[in-house]
Amino acid sequence: MAAEHKYINSANYLLERIEKSTSPFHAVLAAGEDLDEAGFISLDFSSDWDMELEYGGKYYVTVYDSTLIAFTIGGTMAKEGNLRLAMAHTDFPCFKIKPSPEMKQNGYGRLNVEPYGGMINYSWLDRPLSIAGKVALKGEDAFHPEVRFVDFARPVATIPSLAIHMNREVNKGVEFNHQRDMLPIVEVLGESLGGEAFFMEALARECGAEVDEILDYELYIYQYEKGDLVGLSETMISSPRLDNITSVTACIKGLIQAQRDKGINIAVVFDHEEVGSRSKQGAAGQALPYVIERIYDALGLSRAQYLKDITDGFALSVDVAHCMHPNQPDKNDPTNPVKMNGGVAIKMAARQSYVSTCESVATVQQLCAMADVPCQKFVNRSDIPGGGTLGSIASAYLPMQMQDVGVAMAGMHSARELMGVKDQYYLEQLITCLFGFK
Ligand SMILES: [Zn+2]
Repeated sequence: MAAEHKYINSANYLLERIEKSTSPFHAVLAAGEDLDEAGFISLDFSSDWDMELEYGGKYYVTVYDSTLIAFTIGGTMAKEGNLRLAMAHTDFPCFKIKPSPEMKQNGYGRLNVEPYGGMINYSWLDRPLSIAGKVALKGEDAFHPEVRFVDFARPVATIPSLAIHMNREVNKGVEFNHQRDMLPIVEVLGESLGGEAFFMEALARECGAEVDEILDYELYIYQYEKGDLVGLSETMISSPRLDNITSVTACIKGLIQAQRDKGINIAVVFDHEEVGSRSKQGAAGQALPYVIERIYDALGLSRAQYLKDITDGFALSVDVAHCMHPNQPDKNDPTNPVKMNGGVAIKMAARQSYVSTCESVATVQQLCAMADVPCQKFVNRSDIPGGGTLGSIASAYLPMQMQDVGVAMAGMHSARELMGVKDQYYLEQLITCLFGFK
């Protein structure tokens, strides 16, 4: 028997979002569509908001097109606990196309790319791949080039494996060199096909411009295959980009679904988490504190109140966790096994690679109880350090109680990852409860 409708609905909604979120820009565009539909007003990052913000209003601002900060303002401010945040990231491990990308050799047209983030290399082989991102064209104003978002939205690239007959040792483990072994082919060149600028010509067609109008681009190679519900009873979701569109989707949905009478709810989806967050639109940047301060300023609230509200706010840093692997269970912590469909993972690490205190853990446990969803504590094995998230980075300048949480998955950073079908619903319920709890 298939899982209940509420789980399937959340899972299918997630898969739709993933299909649209083919680059960080497209993840932001998809979130913006949902916010527009829910009546949020779009603000310009560099204009004056004084006249625009009102108590009871709903707004969002995009930061350099790949980060988005959305917020709702209650009817008034409370004595304490005014700020509640849920944060996630829009980027994912993939390949980024370099300038002058065309490589013509032995009848093939390949693209010169570099890795973005820490992907599992072999998982990218033998798959249909596509290209999405942003292109800057010549414009009237040198400081404001014309920008077009592009998504080829069809399988235009692939990276073939080497046959086992040419490497009999392949099943003993293979090292991949990113400059030599991982370049995608986009064309088999023939007499009438593929000039010197075979890619730039295709790109120009895709964005409705001339080749010489294209000055630069930020283009990513993404996994073209769609996600699916899998299992005899559809108990799992197998899809590209679960890390971290699960969390982006839940943060935006939670903000739209819940509103408080008092205080300010903020959902933030940052770019550049997979490469360390140190950028103007990353979690280590100043975009978020600037926006919060500007909200306070536009509402006529003092800087003293802004600083006070930071200290008694609460934030969730939402990113994926590792469930126990079915074939390698000994890679997980021995006393804290995390299960697929076992509820929201509350992530903890002594070295603060996940942000947490016992109070923030207790808060999430109580929010989960109120939202009627299960939760489970996650820690790494003591001899496997695990990854980090943007939570500890943001908590260094936002000194409020903050907790890392997320859905549990197998195959993190594979071109296709695996999670439980119920866990997306659980995560959405937790974030909705965070934003709705009085
Ligand atoms: Zn992540």
